[in-house]
Amino acid sequence: MTNAFEGVETLIFGDGPLGFLALFGAIYAATFAIYLGFGATMTLLMRRYPERRIQPGRRGEKRAWKEIRQSAWSLVATSLCVAVGLTMQAKGWTLVAPLALSWWSVPLMFVVAMIVFDTWFYWGHRAMHLKALYPFHQFHHRSVAPTVWSNDSFTFVDALVMQSFYIWAPIFLPIPPLVLVGHRVFDHFNGMIGHLGHEFAASKLTRAPSPMVCTVYHDIHHEQFRYNFANFFTFWDRVGGTLHPHYDRLVDRWQEAGANPNLAEEAASGTSARKGDRSLEGHSSAYPRESRDERRLGLRSASPNRAGASHDEATVG
Ligand SMILES: [Zn+2]
Ligand SMILES: [Zn+2]
Repeated sequence: MTNAFEGVETLIFGDGPLGFLALFGAIYAATFAIYLGFGATMTLLMRRYPERRIQPGRRGEKRAWKEIRQSAWSLVATSLCVAVGLTMQAKGWTLVAPLALSWWSVPLMFVVAMIVFDTWFYWGHRAMHLKALYPFHQFHHRSVAPTVWSNDSFTFVDALVMQSFYIWAPIFLPIPPLVLVGHRVFDHFNGMIGHLGHEFAASKLTRAPSPMVCTVYHDIHHEQFRYNFANFFTFWDRVGGTLHPHYDRLVDRWQEAGANPNLAEEAASGTSARKGDRSLEGHSSAYPRESRDERRLGLRSASPNRAGASHDEATVG
């Protein structure tokens, strides 16, 4: 069997259950360190950009400690899935052997992994919104205005189901172990940026005809609950009719304004109570909110997610 990552846990930590535990521990420590380090950095950085806050009326950061505590637990499930997948590959307990690393196998299998993961995530996520499974997913939706800390704020079962991709994908797909690890790291950063609560990526690349998404995409899922279920791409949402009906237009408005378009327009027309950053922070309603320009755009005011709405994110202003 060609295995570019042959016996990784054996080579590094020795064989047997202790070797597996050491591999799992190393993955968990690295993942949690990335979570804390990137989370703290972005939290500090975001204070400079109140005008880019997606839901200016809510303070998702009030839930930060609850989310960090929950993430410390859910990342056990995530790390377990990655450790099991890598061990199965190393032991040859898969239906296909992973491809050797090469100039073509790495990008090809990375893209394949992204597409398969996105498909799994979309349908799995929709299943998690069914009445029978929602109790396992509800915790993630307590964050109505997500912040960088919300990315891993899942129940153990929810994380285990969604991240089981790292167990079953290597059984059926010849993803090199290094690509599997790279995909996990990429998805971790991608997910944290997707929960940033601040928009920086609105551009032609993140709306139709491009399948890519910006931060507003998943923010809408938290705020309005019934739209935007996928992870990397809008493809399945478009096919399944679950993309927010104004997503593409909203991305355009963000790009044009270079900030939250509602706040930018309000600031320009001088309707804010006070000028400058503090007035931007002090907005009283959530995004997308009912306002003159939104009515003009045809954006209906949707009722916020009552099913799992958090009481921690009291509106400000
Ligand atoms: Zn959801
Ligand atoms: Zn989320």
